[in-house]
Amino acid sequence: MKYISTRGQAPVRDFAGVLLAGLAEDGGLYVPEAWPHFGPADWRAMRGLSYPELVARVMAPFVGESLPAATLQRLCREAYAGFGHPAVVPMVQLETHLWAQELFHGPTLAFKDMAMQLLGRLFDHVLAERGERVTIVGATSGDTGSAAIEACAGRERVDIVILHPDGRTSEVQRRQMTTVLAPNVGNIAVAGSFDDCQDLVKAMFADAPFRQEVALSAVNSINWARVAAQIPYYVAAALALGAPDREVAFAVPTGNFGNVLAAWAARRMGLPVARLVIGSNRNDILSRFLAGNDMSMRAVEPSLSPSMDIQVSSNFERLLFELLDRDGAATAATMANFRANGRMDVPEASWRRATAVFHGHSLDDEGTLAEIRRLHEAARYLADPHSAIGIAAARAHMPGHGIPMVAMATAHPAKFPDAMERATGQRPALPASLADLYDRPERYTRLPADLAAIEARVRATVLRNAA
Ligand SMILES: *Cc1c(COP(=O)(O)O)cnc(C)c1O
Repeated sequence: MKYISTRGQAPVRDFAGVLLAGLAEDGGLYVPEAWPHFGPADWRAMRGLSYPELVARVMAPFVGESLPAATLQRLCREAYAGFGHPAVVPMVQLETHLWAQELFHGPTLAFKDMAMQLLGRLFDHVLAERGERVTIVGATSGDTGSAAIEACAGRERVDIVILHPDGRTSEVQRRQMTTVLAPNVGNIAVAGSFDDCQDLVKAMFADAPFRQEVALSAVNSINWARVAAQIPYYVAAALALGAPDREVAFAVPTGNFGNVLAAWAARRMGLPVARLVIGSNRNDILSRFLAGNDMSMRAVEPSLSPSMDIQVSSNFERLLFELLDRDGAATAATMANFRANGRMDVPEASWRRATAVFHGHSLDDEGTLAEIRRLHEAARYLADPHSAIGIAAARAHMPGHGIPMVAMATAHPAKFPDAMERATGQRPALPASLADLYDRPERYTRLPADLAAIEARVRATVLRNAA
Protein backbone atom coordinates (compact mmCIF):
# COMPACT_ATOMS: atom_id res chain seq x y z
CA MET A 1 0.00 0.00 0.00
CA LYS A 2 1.34 3.39 -1.05
CA TYR A 3 0.33 6.78 0.32
CA ILE A 4 0.09 10.10 -1.51
CA SER A 5 -0.31 13.64 -0.20
CA THR A 6 -3.62 15.49 -0.52
CA ARG A 7 -1.61 18.35 -2.05
CA GLY A 8 0.09 16.18 -4.64
CA GLN A 9 3.68 17.42 -4.17
CA ALA A 10 5.21 15.15 -1.50
CA PRO A 11 7.09 11.86 -1.90
CA VAL A 12 4.99 8.69 -2.07
CA ARG A 13 5.53 6.61 1.09
CA ASP A 14 4.58 3.24 2.55
CA PHE A 15 2.74 2.78 5.86
CA ALA A 16 5.88 2.88 8.01
CA GLY A 17 6.94 6.02 6.16
CA VAL A 18 3.69 7.90 6.75
CA LEU A 19 3.61 6.71 10.35
CA LEU A 20 6.95 8.40 11.05
CA ALA A 21 6.43 11.39 8.76
CA GLY A 22 3.05 12.58 10.08
CA LEU A 23 2.47 15.65 7.92
CA ALA A 24 3.61 15.52 4.27
CA GLU A 25 6.39 17.89 3.15
CA ASP A 26 4.00 19.89 0.94
CA GLY A 27 1.82 20.66 3.97
CA GLY A 28 -0.75 18.07 2.88
CA LEU A 29 -2.01 14.93 4.61
CA TYR A 30 -1.20 11.41 3.54
CA VAL A 31 -4.03 9.26 2.15
CA PRO A 32 -4.03 5.79 0.56
CA GLU A 33 -3.22 5.83 -3.14
CA ALA A 34 -6.26 3.57 -3.62
CA TRP A 35 -8.89 2.55 -1.06
CA PRO A 36 -8.91 -1.11 -0.10
CA HIS A 37 -12.26 -2.82 -0.62
CA PHE A 38 -13.96 -5.58 1.36
CA GLY A 39 -16.94 -7.42 -0.15
CA PRO A 40 -19.89 -8.93 1.76
CA ALA A 41 -18.12 -12.28 2.15
CA ASP A 42 -15.06 -10.54 3.62
CA TRP A 43 -17.19 -8.69 6.19
CA ARG A 44 -19.08 -11.86 7.09
CA ALA A 45 -15.78 -13.66 7.68
CA MET A 46 -14.94 -11.03 10.33
CA ARG A 47 -17.95 -11.87 12.49
CA GLY A 48 -16.90 -13.48 15.74
CA LEU A 49 -13.33 -12.15 15.73
CA SER A 50 -12.09 -10.68 18.99
CA TYR A 51 -11.58 -6.92 18.84
CA PRO A 52 -7.75 -7.12 18.50
CA GLU A 53 -8.12 -9.73 15.74
CA LEU A 54 -10.62 -7.51 13.95
CA VAL A 55 -8.26 -4.51 14.15
CA ALA A 56 -5.44 -6.54 12.60
CA ARG A 57 -7.75 -7.80 9.82
CA VAL A 58 -9.14 -4.34 8.94
CA MET A 59 -5.75 -2.63 9.12
CA ALA A 60 -3.83 -5.28 7.15
CA PRO A 61 -4.40 -3.72 3.70
CA PHE A 62 -3.31 -0.30 5.03
CA VAL A 63 -0.19 -1.66 6.68
CA GLY A 64 0.73 -3.56 3.51
CA GLU A 65 4.31 -4.84 3.49
CA SER A 66 5.44 -2.60 6.34
CA LEU A 67 4.79 -5.24 9.02
CA PRO A 68 4.43 -9.04 8.97
CA ALA A 69 0.83 -10.14 9.69
CA ALA A 70 1.85 -11.96 12.89
CA THR A 71 3.60 -8.84 14.22
CA LEU A 72 0.56 -6.68 13.51
CA GLN A 73 -1.64 -9.20 15.31
CA ARG A 74 0.64 -9.23 18.34
CA LEU A 75 0.81 -5.43 18.55
CA CYS A 76 -3.01 -5.25 18.34
CA ARG A 77 -3.36 -7.81 21.12
CA GLU A 78 -0.95 -5.86 23.34
CA ALA A 79 -2.52 -2.48 22.51
CA TYR A 80 -6.00 -3.43 23.73
CA ALA A 81 -5.01 -5.80 26.55
CA GLY A 82 -5.07 -3.01 29.13
CA PHE A 83 -8.59 -1.79 28.34
CA GLY A 84 -11.09 -1.83 31.17
CA HIS A 85 -13.82 -3.77 29.38
CA PRO A 86 -13.54 -7.30 27.96
CA ALA A 87 -15.32 -6.26 24.74
CA VAL A 88 -12.90 -3.26 24.39
CA VAL A 89 -15.63 -1.24 22.56
CA PRO A 90 -18.93 -2.31 24.19
CA MET A 91 -22.29 -1.13 22.85
CA VAL A 92 -25.16 0.04 25.02
CA GLN A 93 -28.70 0.20 23.66
CA LEU A 94 -30.42 3.49 24.50
CA GLU A 95 -33.62 3.30 22.44
CA THR A 96 -35.19 0.89 19.95
CA HIS A 97 -32.92 1.89 17.08
CA LEU A 98 -30.26 3.84 18.96
CA TRP A 99 -27.01 2.56 20.48
CA ALA A 100 -23.95 4.12 22.07
CA GLN A 101 -20.57 2.56 21.37
CA GLU A 102 -18.18 3.25 24.23
CA LEU A 103 -14.69 4.17 23.07
CA PHE A 104 -13.47 5.27 26.50
CA HIS A 105 -12.30 2.12 28.25
CA GLY A 106 -8.61 2.77 27.57
CA PRO A 107 -6.06 3.98 30.15
CA THR A 108 -6.92 7.70 29.85
CA LEU A 109 -10.70 7.22 29.56
CA ALA A 110 -11.11 8.95 26.17
CA PHE A 111 -11.31 7.69 22.62
CA LYS A 112 -7.80 8.93 21.73
CA ASP A 113 -6.52 5.74 23.41
CA MET A 114 -8.16 3.63 20.69
CA ALA A 115 -5.56 4.74 18.15
CA MET A 116 -2.74 5.91 20.41
CA GLN A 117 -2.26 2.62 22.23
CA LEU A 118 -1.57 0.95 18.90
CA LEU A 119 0.42 3.87 17.51
CA GLY A 120 2.97 3.84 20.35
CA ARG A 121 3.67 0.17 19.67
CA LEU A 122 3.83 0.68 15.89
CA PHE A 123 6.37 3.48 16.40
CA ASP A 124 8.52 1.33 18.64
CA HIS A 125 8.49 -1.59 16.23
CA VAL A 126 9.24 0.41 13.08
CA LEU A 127 12.01 2.40 14.82
CA ALA A 128 13.63 -0.76 16.17
CA GLU A 129 13.70 -2.20 12.64
CA ARG A 130 15.44 0.92 11.43
CA GLY A 131 17.75 1.25 14.42
CA GLU A 132 16.41 4.74 15.12
CA ARG A 133 14.94 6.70 18.03
CA VAL A 134 12.60 9.69 17.99
CA THR A 135 11.57 12.37 20.43
CA ILE A 136 7.90 13.18 20.39
CA VAL A 137 6.93 16.65 21.55
CA GLY A 138 3.43 18.01 21.78
CA ALA A 139 1.28 20.66 23.40
CA THR A 140 -1.96 19.77 25.10
CA SER A 141 -4.85 21.56 26.70
CA GLY A 142 -6.14 18.29 28.10
CA ASP A 143 -6.85 14.84 26.65
CA THR A 144 -4.42 14.36 23.78
CA GLY A 145 -1.32 14.73 25.95
CA SER A 146 -2.26 12.04 28.41
CA ALA A 147 -3.24 9.60 25.64
CA ALA A 148 0.13 10.17 23.94
CA ILE A 149 2.03 9.78 27.22
CA GLU A 150 0.23 6.55 28.11
CA ALA A 151 0.92 5.24 24.61
CA CYS A 152 4.65 6.03 24.75
CA ALA A 153 5.52 5.37 28.40
CA GLY A 154 8.12 2.64 28.68
CA ARG A 155 8.53 2.25 24.89
CA GLU A 156 12.16 1.66 24.01
CA ARG A 157 12.67 3.80 20.95
CA VAL A 158 10.61 6.84 21.87
CA ASP A 159 11.02 9.71 24.29
CA ILE A 160 8.05 11.98 24.82
CA VAL A 161 7.83 15.48 26.28
CA ILE A 162 4.44 17.15 26.61
CA LEU A 163 3.88 20.85 27.32
CA HIS A 164 0.77 21.96 29.14
CA PRO A 165 -0.27 25.44 30.30
CA ASP A 166 0.53 25.66 34.03
CA GLY A 167 -2.64 25.72 36.11
CA ARG A 168 -4.98 25.72 33.12
CA THR A 169 -5.79 22.05 32.75
CA SER A 170 -8.14 20.27 35.13
CA GLU A 171 -6.46 18.42 38.01
CA VAL A 172 -7.55 15.04 36.61
CA GLN A 173 -6.05 15.94 33.24
CA ARG A 174 -2.75 17.13 34.79
CA ARG A 175 -2.44 14.11 37.04
CA GLN A 176 -3.14 11.71 34.17
CA MET A 177 0.05 13.10 32.59
CA THR A 178 2.29 13.90 35.52
CA THR A 179 1.83 10.67 37.48
CA VAL A 180 3.31 8.63 34.62
CA LEU A 181 6.85 8.26 35.99
CA ALA A 182 8.49 6.23 33.17
CA PRO A 183 11.98 7.60 32.46
CA ASN A 184 11.15 8.33 28.79
CA VAL A 185 8.32 10.71 29.75
CA GLY A 186 8.76 14.41 30.45
CA ASN A 187 6.06 16.87 31.44
CA ILE A 188 6.57 20.62 31.32
CA ALA A 189 4.13 23.07 32.87
CA VAL A 190 4.62 26.26 30.89
CA ALA A 191 3.91 29.63 32.45
CA GLY A 192 1.51 30.69 29.72
CA SER A 193 -1.54 29.68 27.69
CA PHE A 194 -2.20 26.66 25.48
CA ASP A 195 -1.39 28.86 22.48
CA ASP A 196 2.02 29.64 24.03
CA CYS A 197 2.63 25.89 24.37
CA GLN A 198 1.67 25.32 20.75
CA ASP A 199 3.93 28.16 19.61
CA LEU A 200 6.84 26.64 21.55
CA VAL A 201 6.28 23.26 19.88
CA LYS A 202 6.17 24.92 16.47
CA ALA A 203 9.36 26.83 17.33
CA MET A 204 11.13 23.56 18.26
CA PHE A 205 10.15 22.07 14.89
CA ALA A 206 11.35 25.25 13.16
CA ASP A 207 14.75 25.04 14.92
CA ALA A 208 16.37 22.75 12.33
CA PRO A 209 19.58 21.85 14.27
CA PHE A 210 17.56 21.01 17.39
CA ARG A 211 14.98 19.13 15.36
CA GLN A 212 17.72 16.97 13.89
CA GLU A 213 19.69 16.58 17.12
CA VAL A 214 16.79 14.97 19.01
CA ALA A 215 14.95 13.52 15.95
CA LEU A 216 11.77 15.43 16.65
CA SER A 217 8.45 13.79 15.80
CA ALA A 218 4.75 14.25 16.55
CA VAL A 219 1.72 12.03 16.96
CA ASN A 220 -0.96 14.61 16.25
CA SER A 221 -4.35 13.85 14.81
CA ILE A 222 -3.29 14.25 11.18
CA ASN A 223 -1.16 11.09 11.38
CA TRP A 224 -2.70 8.62 8.93
CA ALA A 225 -2.07 5.65 11.23
CA ARG A 226 -4.36 7.22 13.82
CA VAL A 227 -7.21 7.44 11.34
CA ALA A 228 -6.57 3.86 10.18
CA ALA A 229 -6.65 2.56 13.77
CA GLN A 230 -10.07 4.17 14.26
CA ILE A 231 -11.77 2.34 11.37
CA PRO A 232 -12.12 -1.06 13.10
CA TYR A 233 -14.60 -0.03 15.79
CA TYR A 234 -17.04 1.13 13.14
CA VAL A 235 -16.70 -2.29 11.57
CA ALA A 236 -17.24 -3.96 14.96
CA ALA A 237 -20.44 -1.97 15.57
CA ALA A 238 -21.81 -2.59 12.08
CA LEU A 239 -21.12 -6.34 12.25
CA ALA A 240 -22.79 -6.56 15.65
CA LEU A 241 -25.93 -4.95 14.20
CA GLY A 242 -26.18 -7.17 11.13
CA ALA A 243 -23.80 -5.78 8.50
CA PRO A 244 -23.14 -6.49 5.70
CA ASP A 245 -26.75 -7.71 5.40
CA ARG A 246 -28.16 -4.62 7.05
CA GLU A 247 -27.27 -0.94 6.81
CA VAL A 248 -26.18 1.08 9.82
CA ALA A 249 -25.69 4.79 10.57
CA PHE A 250 -23.17 6.55 12.82
CA ALA A 251 -23.14 9.78 14.80
CA VAL A 252 -19.80 11.22 15.90
CA PRO A 253 -19.01 14.14 18.23
CA THR A 254 -16.47 15.93 16.09
CA GLY A 255 -13.51 18.28 16.55
CA ASN A 256 -10.58 17.64 14.24
CA PHE A 257 -12.66 15.36 11.96
CA GLY A 258 -10.37 12.37 12.60
CA ASN A 259 -12.94 10.10 14.16
CA VAL A 260 -15.73 10.70 11.66
CA LEU A 261 -13.24 10.48 8.78
CA ALA A 262 -12.51 6.92 9.93
CA ALA A 263 -16.26 6.19 9.68
CA TRP A 264 -16.28 7.62 6.17
CA ALA A 265 -13.27 5.43 5.30
CA ALA A 266 -15.12 2.33 6.53
CA ARG A 267 -17.99 3.27 4.20
CA ARG A 268 -15.56 3.90 1.34
CA MET A 269 -14.16 0.39 1.94
CA GLY A 270 -17.58 -1.15 1.39
CA LEU A 271 -19.21 -1.17 4.84
CA PRO A 272 -22.95 -0.46 4.33
CA VAL A 273 -23.16 2.91 6.13
CA ALA A 274 -26.40 4.75 5.38
CA ARG A 275 -25.39 8.12 6.83
CA LEU A 276 -22.90 9.90 9.06
CA VAL A 277 -24.00 12.54 11.54
CA ILE A 278 -21.53 15.10 12.86
CA GLY A 279 -22.18 16.53 16.31
CA SER A 280 -20.62 19.85 17.27
CA ASN A 281 -20.84 22.33 20.12
CA ARG A 282 -21.09 26.09 19.57
CA ASN A 283 -17.96 25.82 17.45
CA ASP A 284 -20.14 24.68 14.58
CA ILE A 285 -18.13 25.31 11.40
CA LEU A 286 -18.88 21.78 10.11
CA SER A 287 -22.62 22.04 10.78
CA ARG A 288 -22.71 25.38 8.98
CA PHE A 289 -20.84 23.84 6.06
CA LEU A 290 -23.30 20.96 5.76
CA ALA A 291 -26.36 23.18 6.21
CA GLY A 292 -25.42 25.79 3.63
CA ASN A 293 -21.88 25.34 2.25
CA ASP A 294 -20.63 27.96 4.71
CA MET A 295 -17.16 26.89 5.89
CA SER A 296 -16.07 30.16 7.47
CA MET A 297 -13.74 30.48 10.46
CA ARG A 298 -14.91 32.19 13.61
CA ALA A 299 -13.17 32.68 16.95
CA VAL A 300 -13.02 29.52 19.07
CA GLU A 301 -15.44 29.67 21.99
CA PRO A 302 -14.90 27.59 25.15
CA SER A 303 -17.57 25.00 25.89
CA LEU A 304 -18.39 22.07 28.18
CA SER A 305 -16.93 19.77 25.49
CA PRO A 306 -13.37 21.18 25.27
CA SER A 307 -12.03 18.47 22.95
CA MET A 308 -14.36 19.84 20.27
CA ASP A 309 -13.46 23.52 20.75
CA ILE A 310 -11.92 23.75 17.31
CA GLN A 311 -12.58 25.94 14.30
CA VAL A 312 -10.39 24.38 11.64
CA SER A 313 -10.81 20.60 11.51
CA SER A 314 -7.44 19.52 10.18
CA ASN A 315 -8.58 16.10 8.92
CA PHE A 316 -11.31 17.68 6.79
CA GLU A 317 -8.63 18.13 4.12
CA ARG A 318 -8.72 14.39 3.51
CA LEU A 319 -12.45 14.50 2.73
CA LEU A 320 -11.98 17.66 0.67
CA PHE A 321 -9.40 15.81 -1.46
CA GLU A 322 -12.01 13.12 -2.19
CA LEU A 323 -14.76 15.69 -2.84
CA LEU A 324 -12.43 17.34 -5.37
CA ASP A 325 -11.95 14.00 -7.17
CA ARG A 326 -8.46 13.54 -5.65
CA ASP A 327 -7.07 16.60 -7.41
CA GLY A 328 -4.01 17.59 -5.31
CA ALA A 329 -3.52 20.97 -7.01
CA ALA A 330 -7.16 21.92 -6.43
CA THR A 331 -6.94 20.80 -2.80
CA ALA A 332 -3.76 22.84 -2.24
CA ALA A 333 -5.38 25.92 -3.82
CA THR A 334 -8.57 25.53 -1.79
CA MET A 335 -6.60 25.21 1.47
CA ALA A 336 -4.37 28.21 0.65
CA ASN A 337 -7.48 30.25 -0.08
CA PHE A 338 -9.09 29.12 3.16
CA ARG A 339 -6.02 30.22 5.16
CA ALA A 340 -5.95 33.58 3.40
CA ASN A 341 -9.68 34.41 3.47
CA GLY A 342 -11.04 32.43 6.40
CA ARG A 343 -13.65 30.92 4.12
CA MET A 344 -13.42 27.69 2.14
CA ASP A 345 -14.73 27.66 -1.41
CA VAL A 346 -16.17 24.21 -1.99
CA PRO A 347 -17.73 23.74 -5.43
CA GLU A 348 -21.51 23.25 -5.30
CA ALA A 349 -21.34 19.72 -6.78
CA SER A 350 -18.73 18.63 -4.21
CA TRP A 351 -20.76 20.10 -1.36
CA ARG A 352 -23.84 18.19 -2.59
CA ARG A 353 -21.88 14.96 -2.55
CA ALA A 354 -20.86 15.65 1.05
CA THR A 355 -24.45 16.34 2.12
CA ALA A 356 -25.62 13.08 0.55
CA VAL A 357 -23.67 11.26 3.28
CA PHE A 358 -23.06 13.74 6.12
CA HIS A 359 -25.57 15.53 8.33
CA GLY A 360 -24.64 18.08 10.99
CA HIS A 361 -26.15 19.01 14.33
CA SER A 362 -24.83 21.48 16.90
CA LEU A 363 -25.69 21.98 20.55
CA ASP A 364 -24.81 24.80 22.93
CA ASP A 365 -23.89 24.17 26.58
CA GLU A 366 -27.51 24.42 27.77
CA GLY A 367 -28.59 21.88 25.17
CA THR A 368 -25.70 19.63 26.15
CA LEU A 369 -26.66 19.69 29.84
CA ALA A 370 -30.31 19.05 28.92
CA GLU A 371 -29.28 16.03 26.84
CA ILE A 372 -27.11 14.63 29.67
CA ARG A 373 -30.07 15.04 32.04
CA ARG A 374 -32.52 13.48 29.57
CA LEU A 375 -30.28 10.44 28.99
CA HIS A 376 -29.82 9.98 32.71
CA GLU A 377 -33.55 10.12 33.37
CA ALA A 378 -34.88 8.26 30.32
CA ALA A 379 -32.20 5.59 29.83
CA ARG A 380 -30.27 5.62 33.14
CA TYR A 381 -27.22 6.37 31.01
CA LEU A 382 -24.39 8.69 32.00
CA ALA A 383 -22.95 10.35 28.90
CA ASP A 384 -20.11 12.89 29.16
CA PRO A 385 -20.68 16.24 27.38
CA HIS A 386 -18.97 15.09 24.14
CA SER A 387 -20.86 11.82 24.00
CA ALA A 388 -24.14 13.58 24.81
CA ILE A 389 -23.66 15.83 21.79
CA GLY A 390 -23.11 12.78 19.60
CA ILE A 391 -26.24 11.11 20.94
CA ALA A 392 -28.35 14.26 20.49
CA ALA A 393 -27.04 14.56 16.92
CA ALA A 394 -27.98 10.92 16.32
CA ARG A 395 -31.53 11.47 17.57
CA ALA A 396 -31.89 14.53 15.35
CA HIS A 397 -30.96 12.57 12.23
CA MET A 398 -32.27 9.03 12.67
CA PRO A 399 -32.35 7.40 9.21
CA GLY A 400 -35.66 5.57 9.78
CA HIS A 401 -36.60 2.36 7.92
CA GLY A 402 -35.40 0.40 10.96
CA ILE A 403 -31.77 1.27 10.25
CA PRO A 404 -29.85 1.22 13.54
CA MET A 405 -27.93 4.31 14.59
CA VAL A 406 -24.76 4.12 16.66
CA ALA A 407 -23.50 7.21 18.50
CA MET A 408 -19.83 7.24 19.49
CA ALA A 409 -19.33 7.77 23.24
CA THR A 410 -15.88 9.37 23.30
CA ALA A 411 -15.10 10.07 26.97
CA HIS A 412 -15.87 8.57 30.36
CA PRO A 413 -18.30 10.78 32.35
CA ALA A 414 -15.86 10.82 35.30
CA LYS A 415 -13.52 12.99 33.20
CA PHE A 416 -16.06 15.82 33.37
CA PRO A 417 -17.44 15.65 36.94
CA ASP A 418 -18.49 19.33 37.12
CA ALA A 419 -20.68 19.18 34.01
CA MET A 420 -22.13 15.85 35.11
CA GLU A 421 -22.99 17.25 38.52
CA ARG A 422 -24.64 20.32 36.99
CA ALA A 423 -26.80 18.11 34.77
CA THR A 424 -27.61 15.18 37.06
CA GLY A 425 -26.69 16.19 40.61
CA GLN A 426 -24.12 13.36 40.74
CA ARG A 427 -20.35 13.25 40.39
CA PRO A 428 -19.44 10.00 38.60
CA ALA A 429 -16.65 8.00 40.25
CA LEU A 430 -13.39 7.28 38.45
CA PRO A 431 -13.07 3.60 37.48
CA ALA A 432 -10.95 1.37 39.73
CA SER A 433 -7.85 1.69 37.53
CA LEU A 434 -7.68 5.43 38.31
CA ALA A 435 -9.31 5.49 41.73
CA ASP A 436 -5.99 6.36 43.45
CA LEU A 437 -5.05 9.06 40.91
CA TYR A 438 -5.11 11.78 43.57
CA ASP A 439 -2.69 9.84 45.78
CA ARG A 440 -0.07 9.10 43.14
CA PRO A 441 3.21 11.05 43.13
CA GLU A 442 3.58 13.60 40.34
CA ARG A 443 6.68 14.60 38.40
CA TYR A 444 6.87 17.67 36.20
CA THR A 445 8.97 20.74 35.60
CA ARG A 446 7.67 24.31 35.68
CA LEU A 447 9.32 26.54 33.09
CA PRO A 448 8.81 30.00 31.60
CA ALA A 449 7.58 30.18 27.99
CA ASP A 450 11.17 30.35 26.81
CA LEU A 451 12.39 28.27 23.87
CA ALA A 452 15.97 27.76 25.13
CA ALA A 453 14.79 26.56 28.54
CA ILE A 454 12.25 24.17 27.01
CA GLU A 455 14.75 22.76 24.53
CA ALA A 456 17.24 22.19 27.35
CA ARG A 457 14.61 20.22 29.26
CA VAL A 458 13.75 18.10 26.19
CA ARG A 459 17.46 17.40 25.69
CA ALA A 460 17.76 16.24 29.30
CA THR A 461 14.97 13.69 28.84
CA VAL A 462 16.54 12.39 25.66
CA LEU A 463 20.04 12.13 27.20
CA ARG A 464 18.71 10.22 30.17
CA ASN A 465 17.55 7.46 27.84
CA ALA A 466 20.15 7.53 25.08
CA ALA A 467 22.74 5.69 27.16
C1 LIG B 1 -10.68 14.27 20.47
C2 LIG B 1 -12.06 14.11 20.99
C3 LIG B 1 -13.20 14.33 20.18
C4 LIG B 1 -13.10 14.82 18.76
O1 LIG B 1 -12.56 13.86 17.89
P1 LIG B 1 -11.97 14.30 16.48
O2 LIG B 1 -11.34 13.09 15.91
O3 LIG B 1 -10.97 15.39 16.77
O4 LIG B 1 -13.10 14.81 15.65
C5 LIG B 1 -14.45 14.11 20.73
N1 LIG B 1 -14.59 13.73 22.01
C6 LIG B 1 -13.53 13.53 22.82
C7 LIG B 1 -13.76 13.15 24.24
C8 LIG B 1 -12.23 13.71 22.35
O5 LIG B 1 -11.18 13.51 23.18
